[in-house]
Parts: sequence; structure tokens; C-alpha cells
Amino acid sequence: MADGIRHPTALVESDQVGEGTNVWAYAHVMKGAAVGRHCNIGDHAFIESGAIVGDEVTIKNGVAVWQYVTIENRVFLGPNCSLTNDNRPRSKREWTPVATTVREGATIGANATIVCGCHIGRYAFVGAGAVVTRPVPDHAVVVGNPARVRGYVCECCQPLSGSGTALACETCGLRYVKSRQGVSRATVPLKPKPKAAAR
Ligand SMILES: [Zn+2]
Repeated sequence: MADGIRHPTALVESDQVGEGTNVWAYAHVMKGAAVGRHCNIGDHAFIESGAIVGDEVTIKNGVAVWQYVTIENRVFLGPNCSLTNDNRPRSKREWTPVATTVREGATIGANATIVCGCHIGRYAFVGAGAVVTRPVPDHAVVVGNPARVRGYVCECCQPLSGSGTALACETCGLRYVKSRQGVSRATVPLKPKPKAAAR
């Protein structure tokens, strides 16, 4: 088993950190936080009790992942991006948690803010400094404050081009379809097997 690197100043209180995950200087993973395998957790990051982080996730320096936040596999959280879990916060009052999920493969740019409850779709791309105030569809690129959809990106992170409902990545060749539900990978229908020739 290839264990990950634990910097001598990292504070890892959770026993649910997967193999091959690195935790760098002054990062804190609380007891009860679940972190998957082969993640990279940068300096000064904080993972709270109850937070869930998948496999192969990159958490850049200074990012806090709070309880009620779920980070799926292969997500990239850019430096100092902000996630939240309470949309009516007051000090020293009862509060109602609001969950947020960042779905597989999505990227959150540096210093972006995700208001709680705004789920981030698969392979979506949130630009640096964006303020996300509504859910982000799969593969969408959102920028600005409030963040707006400006286009779509491929799993490889290059822009998708095309007209109508057919989109494609000119870099890697993957094809997509756009519908009311968002953008998803085009599935090529399998050709039926040719029937054996009659004798
Ligand atoms: Zn591509």
C-alpha cells in the first residue's frame, strides 16, 4: 500500500483518509471527515467533521470544506475558493444546514465563492472569482458575480463548439448533446450485429 505524505505539521484526526492521499503543511482534517484515495490537500486547507471528499481530488491551499459539503471524485478546488453551509447565518443562533455537492470532475477557480445549495454539475468550470448563486449545469462554464453560463467545456477542459444540440471538443474529439437538462456525452448507438448469412 502506497501511503500518502503527511507533512509533520499536518493535523490529521480522521481515520478515514484513503491511501495515497497527501496532506501538506498546516492542513487540518478533523475527526469524522471522510477523504478518499490519492487526493492532494494543500497547505492550510481545512476539512471539517462530516465533510465528504472523493478520490483523486485536488484541494489547493487555503480551502475549507465544511460539514454538509460533498466533493465527488476528481474535483479540483482552486486556491482560496469558498464553500458555505448556511445561507442565513447569525452568530450563536440555531441554524439550518444547507448541503452542497460538487460533482465528479468539476473545477472551481481560485477565489470563487459557492453559495450553499448551489450544486456544481459534472465537469463544470467555475471561473476565478465567480460568485455562484444558482446551481451550475453539467459541463457549463460560469463566470462573474452573479455567475452566468458563458459556454461549455469538455471533460478535458477545452471549450466545446458546435451548433444546435450537437457539441464537440476539437482537442480530444469527444462529442456531446445539449438538452434542457444540460450537456452530456453523446452515446453512439451500437450497430446491430450482422446476421449470419443464410446457407
Ligand atoms: Zn476534450
